[in-house]
Amino acid sequence: MSAEFETPAAARERHAELAQEVDEHNWRYYVLDSPSVSDADYDAMMRELHELEERHPDLRTPDSPTQRVGAPLGSDFAKVEHLERMQSLDNAFSPDQLAAWAARAEKEVGDAGPYLCELKIDGLAVALVYEKGRLVRAATRGDGRVGEDVTANVRTIAEVPQRLAGDDVPDLLEVRGEVFMPVEAFNELNARAAEAGERVYANPRNFAAGSLRQKDPRITAQRPLSMLVHGFGRWEGGPAPASQSETYDLLKGFGLPTSDRYRVVPDLAGVQAYVDHYEKHRHDPPYEIDGVVVKVDRIALQRRLGSTSRAPRWAIAYKYAPETVNTRLLGIQVGI
Ligand code: NAD
Repeated sequence: MSAEFETPAAARERHAELAQEVDEHNWRYYVLDSPSVSDADYDAMMRELHELEERHPDLRTPDSPTQRVGAPLGSDFAKVEHLERMQSLDNAFSPDQLAAWAARAEKEVGDAGPYLCELKIDGLAVALVYEKGRLVRAATRGDGRVGEDVTANVRTIAEVPQRLAGDDVPDLLEVRGEVFMPVEAFNELNARAAEAGERVYANPRNFAAGSLRQKDPRITAQRPLSMLVHGFGRWEGGPAPASQSETYDLLKGFGLPTSDRYRVVPDLAGVQAYVDHYEKHRHDPPYEIDGVVVKVDRIALQRRLGSTSRAPRWAIAYKYAPETVNTRLLGIQVGI
């Protein structure tokens, strides 16, 4: 129905229908690692929900998918409460939406630059907790407040240090990052699985999620998972960073895996140049990306900007348009 003739009752009905559909997709994606629609189709449903809520703000209730992170947890793993909430990211799908985000930030804090631009890795979010430099816990994002305890499985990832290096290690450090499977390894393993008649995955993200969420860590150990960290939740003791870029320097010094593809740029023109560059060179990194994440670099400004119930106001994900999918896997068309 055109928005112009939409009655509140019709909007409510459409909202309920879409919310239920999104919840089902969340369950398939986050719990079963087996989505049945493409990310672009999912994003379109979420966009329609956002638009309905813009026109009918009473539909924006705390239980709406637009206000929540992830999905309720399955029962295969012990549950752990995160030290700090793990959030999602708001999206921009065009240069105008990116500029609108920067304008909102600047309205709040004045000059919000410099901005840190980095790749949005299509993996799954994991929090690592280090106490006095020792890895004590790893958990999936879950619903943002409570995640699944995947410590034994994460210990099998070579890039994740069991102990942090250096003299200035914080007493308590919770870092967040992305666990992923490199594209080349995914193609190889998926083709082998198909030949053997085993489960195949639609993309590296789902294979990584399925591998990390194995009940037997020995199976996870056989999967070529990797990790890059892109932020922290808690940092107690030791010199604390003043910017996102300094965070990465310090984390790198502790032996944590950070990306060297990020750039700090002074203004929005620099951000746009980075976005444009990686749109053209999307397949240069050895892992799949679905966009770019832009962050206000200065942590004092990040704190001033704060967050909504679902996402920080100091960061935004610029999502690239989906590529035409035509993956042929041993003659089978993979739809997503
Ligand atoms: P998101 O993937 O859009 O963004 C938030 C996440 O990005 C963070 O949690 C973080 O882990 C990750 N991230 C990657 N690189 C990062 C970086 N450099 N810095 C900071 N964060 C980084 O949001 P989401 O809530 O995780 O998931 C929603 C998305 O998942 C949808 O837009 C869709 O693409 C996909 N999804 C698909 C289905 C489906 O059925 N196909 C269902 C649910 C979700």
